[in-house]
Amino acid sequence: MRILVVEDEKKVAAFIKRGLEQESYAVDIAHDGKEGELYAETNEYDVIILDIMLPGKSGLEVLKGLKEKGIKAPVLLLTARDSVEDKVEGLNLGADDYLTKPFAFEELLARLRALMRRGTYTTPVLKFADLSLDPVTRKARRGDKEVELTVKEYALLEYLLRNPNRVLSRTVIAEHVWDQTFDSETNVVDVYINHLRNKLDKDFPKKLIHTVRGVGYVLKED
Ligand code: CA
Repeated sequence: MRILVVEDEKKVAAFIKRGLEQESYAVDIAHDGKEGELYAETNEYDVIILDIMLPGKSGLEVLKGLKEKGIKAPVLLLTARDSVEDKVEGLNLGADDYLTKPFAFEELLARLRALMRRGTYTTPVLKFADLSLDPVTRKARRGDKEVELTVKEYALLEYLLRNPNRVLSRTVIAEHVWDQTFDSETNVVDVYINHLRNKLDKDFPKKLIHTVRGVGYVLKED
C-alpha cells in the first residue's frame, strides 16, 4: 500500500514516514500543497494524509482540487487543535476522516487501517485459496505452513492479495509497493516475487503466483 503524506513540518513528515515504513507501507512526502497535488495526480495512492496548514496552497484547496479531478484515494486530514471550521469544511469537501495534531502514531495507524477497510478492503485477514495473510501478526500462511515475511515481501503479498485474479504489471506493482525512490530500471519486483514464490509456492503442487509474459504477474488458481 502506498501513501502520500503532504506535510510541511519536516519533523512531523519524517516521523510519519518512518513509522509507516516500519509497517511496510511505501511512503512519499510532499512538503507543500502544490507538490502534494502534483504527486497525487501523477501517482496512484491508496491513502493521502493531508495537512491543512500548508504554505502556498492550503490542504483544503488541495483537497478541493483533487476531488474536482476525480482522484479517488481516501483522504485523512491533519488539523490543528480547535479548528472546528476546518474539520467541517474538510469533511464537506470530501475528506474521509481527520486527525487532530498532535497525535499518537498508533492513532494514525488505526485511522489509516479503517480507511483502507472502508474501500475495497473489507476483511482483516486476507485470503486466497489456501494462502492467507494476517495484517495483525504480519504472518503469511500457506496450508499448514506459517511463513515469516520481510517488510517488502509483506507489502508485495498484501498488494497481490488485495488484487486477486487481476494481471498486475511490474509498473503497477512497483507503484503500490515501493515509493518514488524506486528505480524502474531494476528488476526488484521480479526479485521479490521470487522470494514470495520460494516461501509460498515452491513446496506446493498448486502454484498461485503466475507470470504473465511481457506484462507482470497475477495471483490466481489454475
Ligand atoms: Ca503544516
